[in-house]
Amino acid sequence: MAARAETRKSEDYYVACFTVIPEEFAAFREMCDERHSRPLGIDPRDPNQYDFGEIAGHNVVLCCASRPGPDNIAATAADLLRSFEGIKYALLVGIGGGVPSRAYDVRLGDIVVATPGYLTSGITHHDQGKQLSDRFKHLNFPVPPPRALQGAVGQMQTRELVGRSKIPNIISSVVGKLPNFNRPDNRSDCLFQADYEHVGERSDCDECDKKRLVQRSARDNLAPRIHYGVIASGSLLVRSAEKRDSLRDLYNVCCIDMEAAGIMGTLPSLVIRGIGDYADSHKNDHWQKYAAVAAAAYAKELLQYLSSPVAGSRFCSDEKSGESMATTQTRNHTVEDLLEQKARIIRAYNWRESIIDLSKVLGLKWDLGSRPQLAQALQVNKGPNGSEIQNNALRCAIMKELRVENENIVIPSHLQVLRN
Ligand SMILES: [Zn+2]
Repeated sequence: MAARAETRKSEDYYVACFTVIPEEFAAFREMCDERHSRPLGIDPRDPNQYDFGEIAGHNVVLCCASRPGPDNIAATAADLLRSFEGIKYALLVGIGGGVPSRAYDVRLGDIVVATPGYLTSGITHHDQGKQLSDRFKHLNFPVPPPRALQGAVGQMQTRELVGRSKIPNIISSVVGKLPNFNRPDNRSDCLFQADYEHVGERSDCDECDKKRLVQRSARDNLAPRIHYGVIASGSLLVRSAEKRDSLRDLYNVCCIDMEAAGIMGTLPSLVIRGIGDYADSHKNDHWQKYAAVAAAAYAKELLQYLSSPVAGSRFCSDEKSGESMATTQTRNHTVEDLLEQKARIIRAYNWRESIIDLSKVLGLKWDLGSRPQLAQALQVNKGPNGSEIQNNALRCAIMKELRVENENIVIPSHLQVLRN
């Protein structure tokens, strides 16, 4: 393992995760299956603070921006890209302000994922544009997340629908190690009526009139609810229920943040927010840590459904240029399309997350006894035999080696001995 750490280079990292405040950084660091030492090749002029690790078989560089705001996160991302030229996927993970509405019963500790829809990328840059005499016209709609990340979000939605989300277990595991990131008492989740301002100098709402709380039905479990919708993003720190509700009415947003527009203007990314407050005058830090863990837990599970990028393809080339993008994405999707077709036929539906199902789809031996042979063939040395870490590493290693010829998946020769 030490030899690998010494030889790891910056180009080995293709997932970047951006956080802004230390609580977000600390929460996300706990998601790593394995921590890495600093790789070679980082630009000496790069001022960013990084941490490195592996999650679900992906090498992830974790970056904490020094200050909030879209301009600062854009500059942080630009510095990161100078050091990590292989970055293909970016995640912005942290806390945001909830925007409850009839459409979204958003509560503290819930998770919001920016999701593209009709005429929206999932992010509304709410304070950039042109003020006309009768309305504000936006000039900038950032690009939507890469399709691979959108596909992983689809997997998350499916898992949740069938009651198989891993997020509660991931959160439990983290707060077991970081008790001060535990879920606050539900009684401190206070949504006040929009016209009722915070009372007193203290940040908590002990002096606020609880008769002015919005009445909401109790939930039957404390697991974070996940909302897919639009996030309003801008350089303005919103601490006003009036402003919050005007954004809700204009764009049907369910969350407000200060970085999404900045990162998505630089890198096509996926934005994941844990709800830490309601963006009103009662805003305080009480739920920040738990909200940061909730968002990071979503990101950790999501990475399990993200395929490794095609070797040699770079974020900048395949997302932003014409021909190279088409070539890479066609190739990537064709492998996945063919796997999906075969999986349906043999009912091995979990091939994106299970080494057993992936092996079945490819006609390889899948029993536990053949796992060491598979690990040796793929030069994978991760975790005990049969462990989740080994499973993820093997699955990712196989995916990296597959290619398509004449509409068929080609299995490399060194895996042929594992044919069933
Ligand atoms: Zn208050």
